[in-house]
Amino acid sequence: MPMAEKILEVKGLTKYFDVQGGFLKKKGQVRAVENICFDLYNSETLGIVGESGSGKSTLGRALLKLLKSTSGEVVYKGKNILDLSDTNLSLIRRELQMVFQDPYASLNPRIKVGNTIAEPILANKMVSTSGQAREKTLKLLELVGLRPEMYERFPHEFSGGQRQRISIARALALEPKVLVCDEAVSALDVSVQAQILNLFNQLKNQLDLTYIFISHDLAVTKYISNRIMVMYLGEVMELAPTEKLFSKTFHPYTEALISAIPEPSTKGKRKRIILEGDIPSPIDPPSGCKFRTRCFKTMKKCKNVHPEMVEVESNHFVRCHLYDARKEA
Ligand code: SF4
Repeated sequence: MPMAEKILEVKGLTKYFDVQGGFLKKKGQVRAVENICFDLYNSETLGIVGESGSGKSTLGRALLKLLKSTSGEVVYKGKNILDLSDTNLSLIRRELQMVFQDPYASLNPRIKVGNTIAEPILANKMVSTSGQAREKTLKLLELVGLRPEMYERFPHEFSGGQRQRISIARALALEPKVLVCDEAVSALDVSVQAQILNLFNQLKNQLDLTYIFISHDLAVTKYISNRIMVMYLGEVMELAPTEKLFSKTFHPYTEALISAIPEPSTKGKRKRIILEGDIPSPIDPPSGCKFRTRCFKTMKKCKNVHPEMVEVESNHFVRCHLYDARKEA
C-alpha cells in the first residue's frame, strides 16, 4: 500500500513495572516494553503480533496512556500525548479509542446496551439532547450490524460476537480516528472471528479509520493488516508490510511463527520450526539478543551484543545480527 501521511509517531516508548516477588519470585523490574519506535500511517492497519509475554498489550495501553510509560513519546497531531494534562488528554482520547478482548467484562451487565453506547456520547457533548444521543446510538447499532430493538436489551441477551459488536459501537461513539484493538477477536469462535474481522474492514473503509490490531494469532493478523510488527520480550523483532513479511522473512522468530500457521492441504508442506522452551522472564531477559535462548540460528555474537534494528529492504526492518553489519564489541 502506498505510504500515507503519519497519524501517530512512537519514539522510544518504554514501560517497566516494579515488582516485589509475586509469581516472578524475584524483586526487580519487569521490562515489559523497551524502546519501541514506529510510525502509524493514516488508514492503515498495523498488526502487532507476539506470544503471551511479548509486551504487545502493554504497548497498546501505553500508547493511549491507559498506563503510565517509563519513558518515550507518542506524538499525535504534533503533541506528545504522554505529556498532556488529563483535560487536554480527554479531548485527544476521543480520537484514539480501544476495543478490548473480552466484551463480557467490558459491558456493565445492569445497563441496557443502548444506554452503554449513548452515555459517552452525552458525557462528551457530541450531541445536546438525550433524544439525539439515542438517534446516534441507533445509527451506530445499525453500522455494526445490530437491529434497533437491541437498544433496550441487556448484555446477557447477546452472543459473544454481538457483544463485541456492541463494544465496537461504543468505541465508535466518539468518532475516533484510531482504534487500538487488543485481542479483539481472540475470545470468539473461528466463524464469528471472521465476521468481526470483516466488520473491522468494512468500518475502516466506511469511516476512514486507522487500526492497531494486537493479536497472538499471526494468521488473523495477516488477514487484516497492511503491515505487521513482530514483538518478543518487549522489543520489536521485525516490522514490514504484510506481503513482504510472508514472502521474504528475515527474523528467525518470525520464521518460526509463520511455520506454525496451518496450511491448506493442497499446498506443499512447509517445515514447522518448533521453538525450544518458553519465553524467558521479562524480569531477567537474556543478554545480547533477547531471542537467543530459543533461536535456531544463534551465534557467539548473539550472547554479548544487543542487535539494533536495521532496514534490510525498503520499509522492512529487522533486529538480528544475521543482517547487522556491526563488528562484535
Ligand atoms: Fe538469533 Fe542471533 Fe538473530 Fe538473535 S541475533 S535472532 S540469536 S541469530
